[in-house]
Amino acid sequence: PDVITVQELSNRMAVRGVDIIKFLMKQGLMMKINDVIDTDTAELVADEFGMTVRRVSESDVEAGFLSDDIDEEATTPRAPVVAIMGHVDHGKTSLLDALRTTDVASGEAGGITQHIGAYQVRTPGGDAVTFLDTPGHAAFSAMRTRGANVTDIVILVVAADDGVMPQTIESIQHAKAAGAPIIVAINKVDKPDADPQKVINELLQYEIIGEALGGDTQIVEVSAKSKTNLDGLIEAILLQAEVMDLKADPERSAEGVVIEAKLDKGRGPVATVLVKRGTLRRGDIVVAGSAWGKVRALLNERNEQLTEAGPSVPVEILGLDEAPSPGEPLAVVESEARARELTEYRARTKREKATGGINQVSLVDMMAKL
Ligand code: GDP
Ligand code: MG
Repeated sequence: PDVITVQELSNRMAVRGVDIIKFLMKQGLMMKINDVIDTDTAELVADEFGMTVRRVSESDVEAGFLSDDIDEEATTPRAPVVAIMGHVDHGKTSLLDALRTTDVASGEAGGITQHIGAYQVRTPGGDAVTFLDTPGHAAFSAMRTRGANVTDIVILVVAADDGVMPQTIESIQHAKAAGAPIIVAINKVDKPDADPQKVINELLQYEIIGEALGGDTQIVEVSAKSKTNLDGLIEAILLQAEVMDLKADPERSAEGVVIEAKLDKGRGPVATVLVKRGTLRRGDIVVAGSAWGKVRALLNERNEQLTEAGPSVPVEILGLDEAPSPGEPLAVVESEARARELTEYRARTKREKATGGINQVSLVDMMAKL
């Protein structure tokens, strides 16, 4: 059964252990600080101290599922986060590269040239779209499965000269499992043997029905190579985003997800983080998996220094003590002491898991406070 120690619960809620023990005593439970309690009791305690427990499975935690429900009250619109999926060689990388050039914020620079794992394109109309730029990386298959929680919309790339292939079907399944709406980009329409209609017909089998046939999936014909109709694709994304009414609270302390990370010779550990909610600021103390640190610098996809990054904004951060894994959730904590406590706890549970010790992770892994 799922259990947690009083000590751990106290750490996570930032409530003194003695206060929890007192409360438990009132419930007729005599507990010491290192005793374990079950989920129901933990919930009772959390409730008493004005917090909510979200029961998450271990795989959720590893996948970086954060408390998604708390965005419901947010009122500030945020940019959609888009992942590009599809069969190998259908043009995912080409399309991501082509879309970089549409960024108006890059001005004369000729588009975004930095590769930081995600980038945001600004449109002439003042909107923004965030693209996850991870295909081809070793981490992509992991991120793709984990992508569920960071991805709002999936662009399914299907080559017009090749049609629906095994990884096309797999991508459809991923998107459906994640509850992410699909926009179909029929690519390579510049090719003489392109047959978009064949693709449209094949997709029917997978319940992807275009608007022309009375369905609700937007299907856009593009060519990454000749940069045809990229604005049409962006328009489709913005339309889908509008329907989804994506919002996040920029005022709260930041939570995000690590998109990729590396150890840079000159700069030390560098992580690309997609901010999910709140605003990440230079000087914040953050925890990501077993890594932590004080954010020394924030850099965008144009290698510009930022002082802060709000919801849906991807940024490179410097200052972590190690490179976290892609998909790891990142959160701002109130102090270095708290950061150490959390990372030590995570290192410990990782060890316990490895040695087959009692598993205390799967229960109350994310308190509202983290
Ligand atoms: P990925 O495996 O899905 O990332 O596909 P790539 O972007 O690497 O593209 C695979 C091949 O298709 C490359 O040789 C590209 O140059 C080519 N390609 C991609 N998009 C287009 C397109 O719109 N038209 C044509 N003719 N070729 C394309
Ligand atoms: Mg590729």
